[in-house]
Amino acid sequence: PYCFAKNQIISSHLAVIHPMDIGLIRGYGIFDFFRTSNYNPLFLSDYLDRFIRSAEKTHLTLPYSKEELTSVIGELISKNNLENGGIRMLLTGGVSENHFSPTDGSLFIFCEDLDFPAPHKYENGVKLLAVEHVRAIADVKTTNYAFPVWHSAEWKQKGAEDVVYHHDGFVSESSRSNIFVVKNGEIKTPDKHILHGITRKRVLELDNSIKIQPVTLNELLEADELFITSTTKKILPITQIDEKKIGTGKPGEITLALIEKFRTIC
Ligand code: PLP
Repeated sequence: PYCFAKNQIISSHLAVIHPMDIGLIRGYGIFDFFRTSNYNPLFLSDYLDRFIRSAEKTHLTLPYSKEELTSVIGELISKNNLENGGIRMLLTGGVSENHFSPTDGSLFIFCEDLDFPAPHKYENGVKLLAVEHVRAIADVKTTNYAFPVWHSAEWKQKGAEDVVYHHDGFVSESSRSNIFVVKNGEIKTPDKHILHGITRKRVLELDNSIKIQPVTLNELLEADELFITSTTKKILPITQIDEKKIGTGKPGEITLALIEKFRTIC
């Protein structure tokens, strides 16, 4: 496979990162991730805008324009024959003398196989663990996922797919997805302390009656239906939080209708 590294498209095994890069030493870097469908990078413009914004917000230098990135990505898709796959863009904090101040980092763009959750998870829904946590620099797609990676041993042991973060009684998001709550036919999604997902954005466009509003932990537990959204999960029904069944314990009608609708756009 080919990737973009060292400012050019090269064979992936030649891509390297310096061990003193603060991306590694301090976990300071940004990334973004999107997928292709039939060789088409889905919603690329939105992902590039978010990646560029993440770089700006973290004071990292991204030495390429949106147009240049688009052209590199097109070339990678064709060189790797990436019909249906994932593409990851990663910008590191760079090698820093004092191990603290970011410098000019390295940009990597590489292709990955895509693994969607198994069909039975969409049919039956999955469980999340509720955990008190606020992501640092929440609206930036930083590479720092140390907390959920560490915590995932506990989810797995408890049969959960992932977590849902809450703080001060309010829900924010899952570790790599946004969350939506359905009650009495009304859909709500929180806006604070979240990464603004591109899938969330598409879902909001599909149903403009969805309210962007704070969601309490209690509303989450008392919801009729819940679902999470992300690039790699699309729309995934949640039927249990901790030991509490949500609604009927099965994916709800509103969730299933949105899943159908989402299929029409990607
Ligand atoms: N929230 C967090 C913290 C994420 O890491 C992600 C995706 O990785 C999302 C939400 C969902 O975003 P998207 O729909 O753009 O994949």
